[in-house]
Amino acid sequence: MLRDYEFWFVVGSQFLYGPEVLETVAARAQEMTDKLNATGNLPCRLVYKVTAKTNQEITEVVREANHDPKCAGIITWCHTFSPSKMWINGFVDLQKPYCHFATQYNRSIPNEEIDMDFMNLNQAAHGDREHGFIAARLRMPRKVIAGYWEDEDVQKRIGSWMRAAVGVMFSKSLKVMRFGDNMREVAVTEGDKVEVQIKLGWQVNTWPVGKLVDTMNAVTEEEIDALMETYRSEYTFNTDDIETVRYQAREEIAMKKMMDAEGCKAFSNTFQDLYGMKQLPGLASQHLMAQGYGYGGEGDWKVSAMTAIMKAMSEGMTGGTAFMEDYTYNLDPDAKYSLGAHMLEVCPSVAAEKPRIEVHPLGIGDREPPARLVFEGHAGPAIVVSLVDMGGRLRLIVQDIEAVKPILPMPNLPVARVMWKAFPNLTTGVECWIAAGGAHHTVLSYDVTAEQMKDWARMMDIEFVHITKDTTAESMEQQLFLNDLAWKLK
Ligand code: MN
Repeated sequence: MLRDYEFWFVVGSQFLYGPEVLETVAARAQEMTDKLNATGNLPCRLVYKVTAKTNQEITEVVREANHDPKCAGIITWCHTFSPSKMWINGFVDLQKPYCHFATQYNRSIPNEEIDMDFMNLNQAAHGDREHGFIAARLRMPRKVIAGYWEDEDVQKRIGSWMRAAVGVMFSKSLKVMRFGDNMREVAVTEGDKVEVQIKLGWQVNTWPVGKLVDTMNAVTEEEIDALMETYRSEYTFNTDDIETVRYQAREEIAMKKMMDAEGCKAFSNTFQDLYGMKQLPGLASQHLMAQGYGYGGEGDWKVSAMTAIMKAMSEGMTGGTAFMEDYTYNLDPDAKYSLGAHMLEVCPSVAAEKPRIEVHPLGIGDREPPARLVFEGHAGPAIVVSLVDMGGRLRLIVQDIEAVKPILPMPNLPVARVMWKAFPNLTTGVECWIAAGGAHHTVLSYDVTAEQMKDWARMMDIEFVHITKDTTAESMEQQLFLNDLAWKLK
């Protein structure tokens, strides 16, 4: 998926310098593109497109970028000076993610070589300022990255932004398959699906559970045998109840067939609507998530879509991204932790160990005991993410966390679990999260960063709230108050 996308390097200039300078600029832009692609620090291909000198050239490259499905964004830079009124018509029409890369061809100022010719060729320091002004004036959602292009940290920042931009592209074509409605009476999993489609592009629609049951009944024993082999290779069987596991395989195959037939990359279901099904999908949903599909329990299509988007953004990374729910706290003064889990459905991509397939009764949903994957999440820095509908606007809430090895073995807990330390600390974090209206369902990711989610939210033009090690309850309250004012004005 990431390999399918490219970003276009558009270098600003003008005719003032004569053809020789323009040829040098173009040759260097191509050289920088080739070297950046060779570093391995960019997840998508960079394509040098044009040294733009006129309004028409810029308008044309923007038009082409808007219409090319491979192009996930443009990256601009001004080796020389590019008068910014030339960019207005193109920028007004730009519909793709935009990054302004404020860099310079040479790292150091040379002593002997520097004269006025050198200065006129190497003037990004003021060329990029003129370029940046017009985007500020136009209030464009953009990423500004400054630094030397051969520095690895700078290259990695561009690579990180590319992943956020791919998240934008993925979001705009995302289809979510709903089996059943939201859990009765729950507020935070609701939302305006029309507004979400306008803002984020998601097509969220429902399919009958009866159609899923029909599709399940049409799954063959051979198809189930093949998936059972996959389960055996990836997981440890901690049950002799093979028929129950085979039933999950049947559910997985049927859900995958229905999603693939419709081009859906995310789904939701609810234990309150399992008509004709023997088990709530547990292992089935978990293994679908492991393959990149988004999932949300209790009809939570927003968290399902966010799981799919964050999995797309972090493609090829190994930390893991999972549907999660804050379940219960450890409030000992010296050991304050959140324990996250779900009834069944935590993605095994976050597992610290080989997940075990187990069968246990489930008190909720009035069905047979379902097979599920049980494991501990691994330690490491991560984020939890929640998208809520505030009525008239969407708010994305991100909290920094540090996952730990669970401090207790909890041998009688029959579900996957992740334990973490929340920032700035457990209780202030809870106060901030609740003040912001964050949901009980989240996406937990070890791979996607808060900066990427901020970039994504900016490109999607939705509100962003970040709870960090420095956040206080007071600062959060003030930010939410100011955000309310700002978003009313927008
Ligand atoms: Mn839940």
